[in-house]
Amino acid sequence: MPELLADCKAETLTRLRRALRAWYSRHARPLPWRKTADPYVIWISEIMLQQTTVAAVVPYFDRFVKRFPTLESLASAAEKEVLRRWEGLGYYSRARNLHRAARILVRERGGRFPNDVAELLTLPGIGRYTAGAIASFAFDKQAPILEANTLRLYCRLLDFGGDPRSAAGQKLLWGFAGQIVPRRHPGTFNQSLMELGATVCTVDEPRCSVCPVRGYCAAFSRGRQTQIPIPLPRAPVTEVTEVAVAIQRDGRYLLIKRLPGERWAGLWDFVRFAWEQDGRISPIRLAGAVYERTGLKIAHQGAIAEIRHSVTRFRINLSCHWAQWMTGELDGRTRHFRWVAPSQFARFPLSTTGRKFARLLQERGAQ
Ligand code: SF4
Repeated sequence: MPELLADCKAETLTRLRRALRAWYSRHARPLPWRKTADPYVIWISEIMLQQTTVAAVVPYFDRFVKRFPTLESLASAAEKEVLRRWEGLGYYSRARNLHRAARILVRERGGRFPNDVAELLTLPGIGRYTAGAIASFAFDKQAPILEANTLRLYCRLLDFGGDPRSAAGQKLLWGFAGQIVPRRHPGTFNQSLMELGATVCTVDEPRCSVCPVRGYCAAFSRGRQTQIPIPLPRAPVTEVTEVAVAIQRDGRYLLIKRLPGERWAGLWDFVRFAWEQDGRISPIRLAGAVYERTGLKIAHQGAIAEIRHSVTRFRINLSCHWAQWMTGELDGRTRHFRWVAPSQFARFPLSTTGRKFARLLQERGAQ
């Protein structure tokens, strides 16, 4: 039995909380979403922070909240614009869910943000952690939280050497999260736990010598802090080759909207498809592949660039080409598409590689 759980006396928890609060009051980073108790703003920040670092999120957060300062402004925006503001952050289902949830809240709840975990959990894109974060940060509800930073911190405090993502591990850690969160100022306390995990109890080199709770840490007392939590097995990296073709017609290029269920659903893209690894990209084969997918006949004009890009466990090598439209029409009943002048590319949300390709085309046009 881990020491802290075995000794989960009220006085022990009280001392631990006091030490952590004192530390947080001196060391909390002044992040923009910490200046408010507005649940809308906190919700935006929490969704952006999923799978993304604080440093990457800050500029996106500032721009997004400036453009959509209220729930109503987000709900009334077109999905295209929401995705455009999200462009580059990745994991676009987060933006689509934010938008859907905003519309539900305005349409069905009069724009009122729920203040309890059960209600928050009914909204698209809000899981147990995010619900706990919003309920505690914005409404000071005594709701537990467990995300990457607190997961690591709790594992070490408890010297838990099992798999923290297993059902048993999750049960133990959520149980501990429920025990440790206090009745008074639970929101600030939860933030202090996350801050400690993010800045002191870090993945590779926990800074135990300056840690305010080391006196309560079972892993530290046993010298096991760098072995806890057990590492996740790394998924092997898969190399992928893709081809993107910018098809030009009367000075405009074809952009196609990605459909629900496709990667990057809701974003727009040039004609793009997978290509066999190390396969030769000849003009004839390329034209045949475009015809097969779109029904358009093209004349290949040349390669423009090779773009390398990593997404989760995929390393993508994107071969970018341009071609002249010859004959054929897309079926507008099955595909949303536009012929777009390069000067208008900025109006369309594109993937990171799509945007790089679009910029190359703009530069070529400007030469
Ligand atoms: Fe983490 Fe070290 Fe603090 Fe324990 S003592 S909580 S391992 S930083």
